[in-house]
Amino acid sequence: MSSQQSTATGPVLTGTPVVPGVAYAAVMWPGARPEIPSAAADLPEAEREGQAERFAVAASTVADRLRERAAATTGPAAEVLTTTAALATDKAWLAATDKLIRSGTPAANAVAAATEQFAQMFLTIGGLMAERVTDLRDVRDRVIAELTGTPEPGVPAPSEPTILLADDLAPADTAGLDPAMILGIGTRLGGPTSHTAIIARQLGIACIVGLAEAGTVDAGTPVLIDGTAGTVTVAPDPDEALARVQAYRREADEIARWRGPGRTADGRAVEILANVQDGPGARTAAQRPVEGVGLFRTELAFLDRADEPSVQEQAAQYREVIEAFAGQHVVIRTLDAGSDKPLKFIDHGEEENPALGVRGNRIADGDPGLLERQLDAIAMAAASVDPQPWVMAPMVSTAAEAREFAAKCRARGLTPGVMVEVPAVALCAEAVLAEVDFVSIGTNDLTQYAMAADRMRSELAALTDPWQPAVLRLIAMTAAAGSAAGKPVGVCGEAAADPLLACVLVGLGVTSLSCAAGAAAAVGARLSGASAEQCRRAAEAAVATADPAAARESALAALR
Ligand code: PEP
Ligand code: MG
Repeated sequence: MSSQQSTATGPVLTGTPVVPGVAYAAVMWPGARPEIPSAAADLPEAEREGQAERFAVAASTVADRLRERAAATTGPAAEVLTTTAALATDKAWLAATDKLIRSGTPAANAVAAATEQFAQMFLTIGGLMAERVTDLRDVRDRVIAELTGTPEPGVPAPSEPTILLADDLAPADTAGLDPAMILGIGTRLGGPTSHTAIIARQLGIACIVGLAEAGTVDAGTPVLIDGTAGTVTVAPDPDEALARVQAYRREADEIARWRGPGRTADGRAVEILANVQDGPGARTAAQRPVEGVGLFRTELAFLDRADEPSVQEQAAQYREVIEAFAGQHVVIRTLDAGSDKPLKFIDHGEEENPALGVRGNRIADGDPGLLERQLDAIAMAAASVDPQPWVMAPMVSTAAEAREFAAKCRARGLTPGVMVEVPAVALCAEAVLAEVDFVSIGTNDLTQYAMAADRMRSELAALTDPWQPAVLRLIAMTAAAGSAAGKPVGVCGEAAADPLLACVLVGLGVTSLSCAAGAAAAVGARLSGASAEQCRRAAEAAVATADPAAARESALAALR
């Protein structure tokens, strides 16, 4: 939960850290968004055609502008700008607005009303669709500004380096930021998986979301933002603030120099691995200082397939990943379809609660052939490969499910493991570990299910924080069971990408860390500066706290 603590230098605001980085500069707030018209006067018949035309031109001007900006950038920023541009040309939205205008609603009011209809629909669907509401409202604001002749809303280009605070940022605003001038971002709303967070990560801008007290800081106030700790110190002592920035830069240099392998300062080996989703992604990841793949999300390789890929096609896809990491450790996860990752070739049916429904390994109950064919494909891809890839099942809840999965793997000469994403598995880790050769903790889902908080809902970011002590305790139980059984316990959720949390995870007994390859060096460098005993003490301190901010604080103190 976001909070405010006082220090000698000024209040320290806390939120959810999403992109590391330390910066000191004055605060800037984005310009005002256009007024959303509410009362819709009746538009005279004679003006309707003209306003409908003006609306169509405004929407296409906004779409063109967003596409131009997409063309000038790459990666997630370009994708976000392209998808936002697509919203401005969405046929259903254009038609709904046009219809309102033609029935007598002035254009700007019609844009606002049609957008709200769609926003409510997206919110009712929930999940990824709900996340698009910010984009849709951003398109609405841009089109209304175009119609009313007011400046395009967004972040003005600052004349000197600054720290941007905002209620929320439209993805199109974040995508256009210049990292040389915007040194940090703090938003009152938004979660760790929001578009703002994803783009800030791409641009390398320190970023904190869920900064509830952001509104208490006026434009022009100097602040120190720490994207690792999730803090914004208001009006800090300038010398101390500059010293913190320099210390951070030294750390960044160490990260740039880190080449692996993963080790604590006193030499305990901890594999640092990459999460990948297909062959091209694996080849890019292999250029980073990682020791293999800790999570190959196979379902993401087949998201666009209308029909089930054949065993041969699947084997070719798996082989690409194995070959990108030739001679290294690769963990392949069987299809984790359903909920936020529906696959077209699997009939998911209507579910009231998809996250708690027939997803992941549970699909095998109704359609065992799907899993059998995937395991055949993995075995085919693994033929004469050294070392052999490991295979793990997502969304396992019981030891019996683990046993059944393991038997199918062993029958094909594959090494079986399961993911620990359901709290029940952490609680019964000993029994589950008796059935398989390894486990890998999926902290994204483990946190979602332990905290009963949808990982896609940004307003629940404080609950879906893997630093929640309840989550740390479930990890501790799993790691203890792994160490008693002498079997590896990895972490492959987003938690493994947080360098400070990575030290805590190692202190809890985790034996490998798998994350986005771009985050690996920061994790490895941080771990190389902490002894196994320091990590153990940090873990003990974090687990003993009652909230995520206290857990971070106590871990930091133990590692200092
Ligand atoms: C997880 O749940 O932490 C995980 C790694 O799986 P996914 O994010 O693909 O659900
Ligand atoms: Mg998961």
